[in-house]
Amino acid sequence: MTQLFNLELYDKLQQLLKQAKNALIISHINPDGDAIGSSLGLACLLKQHIPQVNVAMPNHFPDFLKWMEGASDILIYRQNTEKVKKLVDSADIIFCLDFNNLERIEEFGEYVAQSKAPRVLIDHHLSPREDEFDLIFSHVPANSTSEIVYRISVAINSSTKIPKSAADAIYCGIMTDTGSFAHSSSNPELFRIVADLLECGVDKDQVSALVYDNFSADRMRLLGYSLNEKMVVCPQYRTAYIYLSRKELDSYSFCPGDTEGFVNYPLSIKDVVLSVFFVETMNHIKVSIRTRGNFSANEFSGKHFNGGGHKNAAGGKLFCSLSEAVKMLESILPEYEQALHQ
Ligand code: 5GP
Ligand code: MN
Repeated sequence: MTQLFNLELYDKLQQLLKQAKNALIISHINPDGDAIGSSLGLACLLKQHIPQVNVAMPNHFPDFLKWMEGASDILIYRQNTEKVKKLVDSADIIFCLDFNNLERIEEFGEYVAQSKAPRVLIDHHLSPREDEFDLIFSHVPANSTSEIVYRISVAINSSTKIPKSAADAIYCGIMTDTGSFAHSSSNPELFRIVADLLECGVDKDQVSALVYDNFSADRMRLLGYSLNEKMVVCPQYRTAYIYLSRKELDSYSFCPGDTEGFVNYPLSIKDVVLSVFFVETMNHIKVSIRTRGNFSANEFSGKHFNGGGHKNAAGGKLFCSLSEAVKMLESILPEYEQALHQ
């Protein structure tokens, strides 16, 4: 298997692991399957080296990720701020997973930034902020952060089999970030990794059912409503977008995570290469962007939506009303007409 990182970097990590007694693992705001999967997978692996290992997230994560071992011990900064601050204070190493700069963990980032503990980044997003981390395991072509966690584990611990609970979490991250192997998953080595995870005991059908067949009836109805009533298709720009207000979410008893994946549906329409999903939150409009082919979601988000991400999947936010957000998208599409037809 290809070594993603040089030996010197692994040596430095080994040194840090030898000295560490208290590790904290953190991931990005609105944690998804890769954020939780990579964090819990790493937590399980680190427990073989470090006496104390904790996991904290900036805000809460969807119920369909709560089956993973260790999920119930995750502390949420916005709910348990003082406790999480204490974890930061007592950590002698902080692992930052699945994000590329401390702004991605919002106000939690300010507290993490003042900690003296070395920060180890493990991530696959474009352009990591190098000045914010002490050791950087960044590999943009990786399909997920979970894949990188697997590779680091094999590189530094090749003789030990990965425990099933870590394998489950890592598999979950790979499955969710590749849309169940529909995209970002053409590297043959990925399937060798998956084969190994299956040998470690992962039941892939069960993981898929736990994540994707666990929705409320209201969530399914919200999806139906979104596609039927709130999806606008703009064939001239090969674009489709969906927009949902807080009131609409409330009328379908919205729970965190319910709209995850909605942005992918318009890309199933023939010829659509850009899908944008707007959802009203308490204080901003959250934007999700997915693209096909060469149109860069990351650049589009950086330029217009205060965000970023990957080439074909990005997110961002706007501080305006929902209708203004939609108008803004419609107003910029003409300048991309040519790019959307390449
Ligand atoms: P999603 O649309 O699923 O929230 O996010 C898609 C991708 O974009 C993920 O890799 C996520 O980490 C990234 N992303 C989402 N929101 C933001 C944001 O506000 N800023 C940046 N830089 N990246 C984001
Ligand atoms: Mn990821």
